This record gives sequence, C-alpha cells and structure tokens, in this order.
Amino acid sequence: MQNIDTIYINGRFETPHGTELMTLIDPVTEQEAARVRLADEVDARRAIAAAKAAYQALSGATREERMAWLQRLHEVVAAAEDELTAQMIEEYGGPVRFSRPTARRAAASFASARALLADYQFERQIASARVRMEPLGVAGLITPWNANYGFICSKLSMAIASGSTAVIKPSELSARQTALLTRILDRADLPPGLFNIVTGRGDTVGAEFTRHPDVAKISFTGSTAVGKTIMRGAADTMKRVTLELGGKSPTILLDDADFAKAMPFAAAAATMNSGQACLAGTRLLVPRARIDEAHALIVAAFESFRVGDPRDPETHIGPMVTRTQYERVQAYIRKGLEEGAQLLTGGPGRPEHLGAGYFVKPTVFGMVRNDMTIAREEIFGPVLSVIAYEDEEEAIALANDTVYGLHAYVFSGDVARANRVARRIQAGRVFINGLYDEPLAPFGGFKQSGLGREFGIFGFETYLEPKALLGYEQSL
Ligand code: NAD
Repeated sequence: MQNIDTIYINGRFETPHGTELMTLIDPVTEQEAARVRLADEVDARRAIAAAKAAYQALSGATREERMAWLQRLHEVVAAAEDELTAQMIEEYGGPVRFSRPTARRAAASFASARALLADYQFERQIASARVRMEPLGVAGLITPWNANYGFICSKLSMAIASGSTAVIKPSELSARQTALLTRILDRADLPPGLFNIVTGRGDTVGAEFTRHPDVAKISFTGSTAVGKTIMRGAADTMKRVTLELGGKSPTILLDDADFAKAMPFAAAAATMNSGQACLAGTRLLVPRARIDEAHALIVAAFESFRVGDPRDPETHIGPMVTRTQYERVQAYIRKGLEEGAQLLTGGPGRPEHLGAGYFVKPTVFGMVRNDMTIAREEIFGPVLSVIAYEDEEEAIALANDTVYGLHAYVFSGDVARANRVARRIQAGRVFINGLYDEPLAPFGGFKQSGLGREFGIFGFETYLEPKALLGYEQSL
C-alpha cells in the first residue's frame, strides 16, 4: 500500500502539520490502495505565506523568464505522459482512452499558456488612458477528482503566465495522482514558492484559501453546491472568483439529422470519462415522430460499450471513483424507475460480468419528462435521459429549461439551421454536428454552471486586473 505523507511548500516536500489519515480505495478491486496524511489549515496558511513571499520576490521576473518556466513545466510533464497515464488509470479507474489525452492536455496547457504570454499586450492605449493589465497576487486553485492533472496544470499555467503565484488544493480523492504530478512539476526546478500544493479536505484547506486575506483569487472547478459556498466565503475579502461547476447538458437531434451518424456522437457525449464529466450530454432531445428510431440507435450504442478494466484500450466505461459515487448513481437509477421513466437498457446494480469494482451499467431511460429528477440533477455517471419534443421551438425551450448552462450539442442535416439553434441555447459552449477540442476557446458556464471563463485569452484575463493611468505623458 502506498503511503503519501508529504505536501509541497516553498519548493520542498514537507510532512504536513495535519495528522488526519485517509484511506484511498482502488475502484476496480475495492481493496485499500493508499493512505494519505491530509494537510490542515496551518499547512494552508504556510503555503499562502510562501506564495505571498514568492510573489514579492518574483515580481520583477521578465516575460521571457516566465515563458522559460512554462517551457520547462511543459517539458517535464510531457516527458512523464506514460507515468501520469498509468497512475490516473490505477487511482481513478479512468479508461486509458480518456486518461492518456488528459495527461497530454495537461502538458499542452503549459505550452499554450507560453504561446499566449509571448504575444499578450500587457499595456494598451484606450482613448486618453494608458491601461496596464496587472497580476492579482496569490491565486488559490481548487480542483476536483475527475481530471486531476488537467485542472491543476491548466490553472497553474495561467497563474504563472499572468505573473501571479499559486497555492493549489487538489481533491483529496486524487492524492496519488497529485503526489506523482508534484514530483514531476518539481523536476522543472522553478523558483521556490511559485506554486505550492497542499492536499487536504475542502472544508479545511479549501475554506482557508477562500477566506484568507492574502489570497486574491480563487479558481475553482467542482460542484455547484461547493461553488456557492466558495462564492459566499470569498465575499468578505472581495476575492476574484472563477467557478467551473456542474451541468445537465442537452444534446438536440433536429428532425432533419441523420440519426445513424449523430447517435455515436450523442452516446459518446453522454458517457465521456465514464459519465463523470461536467460537460456530458445527459439529456437527449429527440423529435417525437422519430422516437422509436432514436431509441433503437441509442440503445445499440450503449450496449456496444465495453465496461470494465480501464487498462484495456477497448474499454469505454471504467468504474465510478468511489463507493459513494457508485451509490449516488444507483440512487438516481432507482429514482428514474420510481418516477416512471422507461428503462431502455442498463438499470440498477453492477454489470453481471464483473465480480467487483464500482462499475455501473450504462443506462438509458426513455419517456423522460424534463421535470423528472433524472433530467434535472447532475448524476455524474453513464446515465442518459431521452426526452421527446414536438417541434424546434419546444426543443430549444427544453434545452434551456435547466438551472445549468455549461454545454450543449446540436445535430442537423442543415448546418445553417444547427447554427441558428445553437445561437439560442444558453450554454458556454455548443458543439455542432460533432465532438471537438479547442483549448484556446473560452470554457465555462451560463447560469448555475459557473462564473467567468477558463482557457485562452478569456481565461488568462481572469488572472489580471486592469489599471488605468491617466495623464500618462503629462509633465508638470
Ligand atoms: P466537489 O465540489 O465536491 O469538490 C471539488 C473541490 O472542492 C475538491 O478539491 C474539494 O475538496 C473542494 N471543496 C469541497 N468543499 C469545499 C469548501 N467548503 N471550500 C473549498 N473547497 C472545497 O466536486 P467533485 O466531487 O470533486 O467533482 C465533481 C463536480 O465537479 C461535478 O459537479 C462536476 O460537474 C464538477 N466539474 C465541473 C467542471 C467544469 O469545468 N465546469 C469540470 C469538472 C468537474
């Protein structure tokens, strides 16, 4: 069993002041896999002090120096892609087809932040004012368990590019991935205190970051419930907050779409990262006149997915991260049945061919009404609700009838029509006739899916504060 008993402060691995021990369970075997000594508020305060001192010490660093730091981070993370992938599969059960791109994207985020920094205009003239974009100071980065490396690296890359320093609180459920990533980031040999990594609980370390007066910004990815707690907690010190929260994203099949072509995309959108994805398309909106055809195709797609060993390249769906998450998904499946949805495939329990592990059956419900619990709440597992609509207006109304607004997917035989519909969806991103990856496009949510944006120029500027200088060229 692995023992994790260090945190990373001021460029050194240290034993935490916190003494709580947490056991991590392997989601495939259900055996104990690691014991983690969790950091506490004292550790959080020490990390913040180190980041504050580093911010002052490094404030004179040039653009070229920061670009060199980002380049080194890119190189060390890229060189460790195999190790990172293996650890993500082992700790989290992420299928290799998802885990490898996550590790790759983590490395790429440093390269794209470096490219952004190379061209960014920190000063510009706006009418008579000289406007300077200034770094915020210490950024608190709080991340979830469902793509540990990706979130840590993308937030850290932006903090460093902006001129800030960082304190990072990854999910306690990803402690093994974080321990490996920390060792890898340390290989870049960056100035001490530039980034500090403190694995502990949210209500101790995360709450301390949120209330501490020396933290200028929180960038949080996680659940909407915790996002609201952070927003309230950050108000006292008027922190800048970026919140990337949950979703209940619609996939709209318009009545002129080729369902045979669209359905593999719709099924993949619903089940990416074993369904544990904020942007999963978990409500499939289908024209009532073509509902039987849609049911047959989506069931066939779900039944073709291999569930099981995440190391197998053919595996599409791995286990849920913890027993709690498994139970939560099971409870939603039972709720769907109680509320009268029609079970088309899947259902309660573990797939029959698997003897252990937090695996759930890929599940599709038909005859779902948009006011049912399974259509309103984020399940975070491979469970899809098919909802029938009469016409395009109703499809758009149903798509928007949710407290969330992170993502949407639209499929049509007529791309101009798909674009028209996409423009009317209240969501931070809409994919049209396919699944895409554009790391420079803004990412984030409308409504209760969050606040602010990450990635590219929109994400970068959330780490900067504009300062207007008037009379810039005025001598007395
Ligand atoms: P979570 O909200 O339970 O935890 C996220 C992080 O917040 C963890 O590090 C946790 O320890 C910390 N935390 C918990 N309580 C806290 C508190 N009081 N103060 C400060 N920090 C606290 O989320 P999770 O279960 O780790 O992840 C799943 C959720 O994340 C889902 O709702 C999913 O939709 C969301 N998510 C959103 C995005 C996005 O980009 N929009 C991406 C991935 C996941």
